[in-house]
Amino acid sequence: MITSTARRPRTRYLSAEHVAEIVRRKGLAACIAGVAGYIRQDFLRWHDFDKCARLAHHSDVGVIELMPVSDTRSYAFKYVNGHPSNHRYNLPTVMAFGVLADVETGTPDLVSELTLTTAIRTAAMSAVAARALARDNVRSMALIGNGAQSEFQALAFHHLLGVERFHLFDLDAAATRKLAANLTRMGLDFACFDSVRDAVGGCDIVTTVTAAKTNAAVLTADMIEPGMHINAVGGDCPGKTELHADVLRLGPVFCEFEPQSRIEGDMQQMPADFPVTELWQVLAGRAPGRTRADQVTIFDSVGFALEDYSALRYMRDLAQELGMGEGLSLIPALEDPKNLFGFIPAEAPAGKAACKAPAEVI
Ligand code: NAD
Repeated sequence: MITSTARRPRTRYLSAEHVAEIVRRKGLAACIAGVAGYIRQDFLRWHDFDKCARLAHHSDVGVIELMPVSDTRSYAFKYVNGHPSNHRYNLPTVMAFGVLADVETGTPDLVSELTLTTAIRTAAMSAVAARALARDNVRSMALIGNGAQSEFQALAFHHLLGVERFHLFDLDAAATRKLAANLTRMGLDFACFDSVRDAVGGCDIVTTVTAAKTNAAVLTADMIEPGMHINAVGGDCPGKTELHADVLRLGPVFCEFEPQSRIEGDMQQMPADFPVTELWQVLAGRAPGRTRADQVTIFDSVGFALEDYSALRYMRDLAQELGMGEGLSLIPALEDPKNLFGFIPAEAPAGKAACKAPAEVI
């Protein structure tokens, strides 16, 4: 006879504070490098994944998105918003959390903050792309947009590509002062500029990581010099772009997941047959990346669910290694899995019920 015992599915919970502590213990640069390694591994297993473009709900001021992906072992989703005017409420533009679940049983193994983790994985993704597409021996990078993501981008490009000097520009001088102070703290070399054009001039890499719900032309073709690699991060929604269309005609354009990028990337401005290459093909050696030192390469990044799958996997593994996080009682522990009703504590006897019956409430 099989006797059933109550089985509580184990879900690990990582709060924003847990993840900040994990990053402190491991080191931010090591975390970015670790997530970059996991992203590379997962992009090289591209066909193992069930993929779709994210599901976006738009409003006049922003977007809320769900980003699912799975392979035969794990399912992941991220909830993320993008509200460029959130600073009026003293809230960040981007906020996120996510889940990693076991495909075999559907049990949610991990519930985690993903605001910090998104900044880490976006910087890691940018670095993975730049390593495949930028020239060797890059030394300088313009950082246009000095908000929440910018320090992570700087650190990723310093540690994973060897960038030594950063040229900073933001429409908001206070954001640039904040970034400058944080780069000083990290011992990184930088200079602040009064215009995008001045910041971009002479750089090996240009990263645009601005937030504005508009078709902006932060970069125009006349600012771009031969051999530059453009890491365009902030244009990630219909009607929210950073590059003038002519910039996309300067050289080969690479993206994460083409069906999503055609809708959300800077390439939304281009015709449906505009040539683009998914980055996994370059990583797997199936398509060329940069073919000449004087070529301009463009990574039109929007952020894809597989990067969050990789980042969740990384944080889960690190949390296990460091013994971080706490158990979350998310799923009822049932003696008999068919007796969900039995999980509810017995009600008070009839006549002594504390609440009115639903029919009376209605
Ligand atoms: P943030 O609001 O903290 O910072 C954005 C900065 O851009 C602000 O300081 C703002 O003043 C500046 N800015 C706006 N327009 C500008 C312009 N024309 N020139 C110069 N600076 C300008 O936002 P964040 O969290 O740093 O995110 C930046 C962008 O990156 C957002 O658009 C976000 O949606 C996007 N993002 C993309 C990915 C991805 O995977 N591709 C991931 C995360 C965030």
